[in-house]
Amino acid sequence: MDIGFIGLGNMGIPMVRNLLVAGNQVHVFDMSDKAISEAVEYGAVATSSISELAKKVDVIVSMLPTPAIVKEVMVSPEGVIPNAREGTLVIDCSTSDPKTAVQLEALAVTRGLNLIDAPVSGGVPGAKAGTLTFMVGGTEAGFLAAKPVLTAMGQNVVHCGPPGSGQAAKLCNNLLLGVSTIAVSESMCLGVRLGLDPSVLANIINSSSGRCWVSEVYNPYPGVVSGSPASNDFLGGFACDLMIKDLSLALDAAHGVHQPLPMTAASKQFFQIMSHQGNGAKDITAIVRMFQQ
Ligand code: NAD
Repeated sequence: MDIGFIGLGNMGIPMVRNLLVAGNQVHVFDMSDKAISEAVEYGAVATSSISELAKKVDVIVSMLPTPAIVKEVMVSPEGVIPNAREGTLVIDCSTSDPKTAVQLEALAVTRGLNLIDAPVSGGVPGAKAGTLTFMVGGTEAGFLAAKPVLTAMGQNVVHCGPPGSGQAAKLCNNLLLGVSTIAVSESMCLGVRLGLDPSVLANIINSSSGRCWVSEVYNPYPGVVSGSPASNDFLGGFACDLMIKDLSLALDAAHGVHQPLPMTAASKQFFQIMSHQGNGAKDITAIVRMFQQ
């Protein structure tokens, strides 16, 4: 299948690799030439603009940082929606917000396109291993058409409901990720100060009631999980600035439905401090440093 992929960052590159391994021809675009070169090294085909990419393929996947960038890539005159061929399936895997997803889907329909929101969970380890969870918002037809593409990159592909509901599920998941990253950091640092070996403590937590994805797969304490950002000077992974974006989107969505989110609001402040201190591009687990100092 000919697939277009826009956004070749920490997540996009390993997702492209899995689409290539599954036997697809993948046409790629990114603002960064370096990112395009990396994808080409793995076997992807470079394109020089989004409009060129959109005219070549039947399926377009995007993995972009923010809702504003998603909108620009989708609706600008040189973007996806004005230039894609009729019948194209557009799969936005970026973490955006439910309202943007609903607006883009409605616009896509006017051009005969099928657009779904399909944000992911599983982080860079899941993207590399092809074990991501996709939370899909969109029509039944869009979901069924996207399933073979998404299963090349993930293990769980869940239809959450109409357009926007994939983003709603993702925001609920990511506020938990933000809160639990801070909570695991607190716990690990207390244990170490009380004289425990961090790996022994992590093993205990992971077979006890405190166990969670962060403690097990993404432990913030350096050296506990080999190959994780925490064991690699907090490089790669999921940037604090992107977590601030997700927590802000969750708080905005909650405001609209009068839902209190006190833990989310407090967590956002912790990541804001990280960003303020110049660590916005570091992985979210770098927050552990705040408790080590
Ligand atoms: P990233 O910053 O590493 O990559 C984003 C890529 O998009 C970059 O290569 C950038 O050059 C490119 N880009 C930006 N503007 C562009 C434009 N106008 N046109 C084309 N390319 C453009 O981000 P990431 O960590 O890969 O995350 C991407 C999305 O996935 C975000 O919405 C994030 O919230 C979500 N997400 C990330 C993780 C994670 O662990 N990193 C996990 C789940 C979801």
